[in-house]
Amino acid sequence: MTATTQPPFQTSADSLDPTDWNSVRQMGHRMLDDMVDMLAGLREAPVWQPMPPAARQALRGGALPTEPGDLDAVYQDFQTLVQPYGSGNSHPRFMGWVQGGGNPVGMLAELLAAATNPNLGGRDHAPIEVERQVIRWAAEMLGFPQDASGVLVTGTSMANLIAVLVARTRALGTDVRRTGLQGRRLVAYTSVEAHNCVARAMDMAGLGSDALRLIGVDAQHRIDLHALQAAIAQDTAAGLHPFMVVGCAGTVDTGAVDDLSALAALARTQGLWFHVDAAYGALAMLSPAQRPLVQGLSEADSVAFDFHKWAQVPYDAGCIVVRDAALHAATFASQPAYLQRSVRGMAGNQPWPTDFGPDLSRGFRALKVWMTLKTYGAAKLGQVVAHNCSLAQHLARCVDAEPQLERLAPVTLNVVCFRVKAPGVDLDALNADIVADVQESGVAVSSTTRIGGVLAIRVALVNHRTRQEDLQMLLDAVLAAAQQRLASA
Ligand SMILES: *Cc1c(COP(=O)(O)O)cnc(C)c1O
Repeated sequence: MTATTQPPFQTSADSLDPTDWNSVRQMGHRMLDDMVDMLAGLREAPVWQPMPPAARQALRGGALPTEPGDLDAVYQDFQTLVQPYGSGNSHPRFMGWVQGGGNPVGMLAELLAAATNPNLGGRDHAPIEVERQVIRWAAEMLGFPQDASGVLVTGTSMANLIAVLVARTRALGTDVRRTGLQGRRLVAYTSVEAHNCVARAMDMAGLGSDALRLIGVDAQHRIDLHALQAAIAQDTAAGLHPFMVVGCAGTVDTGAVDDLSALAALARTQGLWFHVDAAYGALAMLSPAQRPLVQGLSEADSVAFDFHKWAQVPYDAGCIVVRDAALHAATFASQPAYLQRSVRGMAGNQPWPTDFGPDLSRGFRALKVWMTLKTYGAAKLGQVVAHNCSLAQHLARCVDAEPQLERLAPVTLNVVCFRVKAPGVDLDALNADIVADVQESGVAVSSTTRIGGVLAIRVALVNHRTRQEDLQMLLDAVLAAAQQRLASA
């Protein structure tokens, strides 16, 4: 971070461009150098540190800037107020939540995407072809046919909403887009371990989250198929309209994977749409060791997943893939006069991405995915998945070997849940304190969840930078925090 003397950012009188392009060039080079240094030094930095009140205050202060500022000073604000106080998910010892670590190729792609600044709502231009290629690769990864449809979205939350809406079209026909439900009562099914965004999708689709039946799970935290069948029979008998089952491929709490082949068969016999929330689990398809765990994913009607989690593409990059492209388009496509299509000229090249989801204007998310896949290759991403899963097994063995620790769930993929044991204290409070202590130390970030009614320390291994030594640092920090807490109790 050398303090070079920059010419001030002088804007030309009739646009936002600089009078001297070299000022942008120099600033850009400096930012790029700083960001590369930051990534190269991640391991040595704290994972997370609480924002000092003064920094928070500085970010909150000030009215809408009306007069021009100095880019150099603005960048300095970023360096001192923003960059040091991020959530740390790129750091090798961020293990708190299911979040990806990003990658340097994706970072460069974001620069190119912003510089070229295309709008991927539709029309005939190369960036649309880049996104279509990414969707074909996603279909290939999932074992879907090449004519499956799809679109990049913010994340799996949005992708799940799109799936619910396509399933609604299948159940009620496209008229539902005009007429609404008209009293018809659609019900869907998923397990109690499903991510809350599935319930939110039902809510936002106007079906109501009560219409999502949360089915119990077995000892492996997989959906109980008998209970599922019973619930469908009961709802049918009550005159409701079962229309969808949502399988989980990698739950947030324990990394559990439903029996997807059995769910596919059940959905087929019952005439239900089979959607899978594979937010991070979809990437298990790229690892020969983990692929058998997600067997049946290829049989789904639709799959929601994130490139920004296990595929390590910088935020945000979610994806929905739908087997029946016509049904997918029938759910969203509409053509007001100002979006008229044509067979020639720039308004050609349909269907457009806007025909597959709620967004019209859309950024060039596809570029960072395309460049990440082309540069690293899918096999390398599969190795990241395999490595994270073997780290999870290693951590589980360490926990099992440590008398002061107790494991709280089986390890299927990459999530390990455990807690510190101690006689005569409130274990929920103790473990919650330990997690916060270790977060605040900056050494590592884990999180908490509840397993079987008790508070668990949850370690989710998603980051491509995490190594075995990082797990040791986390465990040492947890045990040290426990000792300190228990000594002062
Ligand atoms: C992260 C996650 C989601 C939500 O995805 P976003 O990309 O955060 O919207 C949904 N389901 C599962 C299983 C997840 O891990």
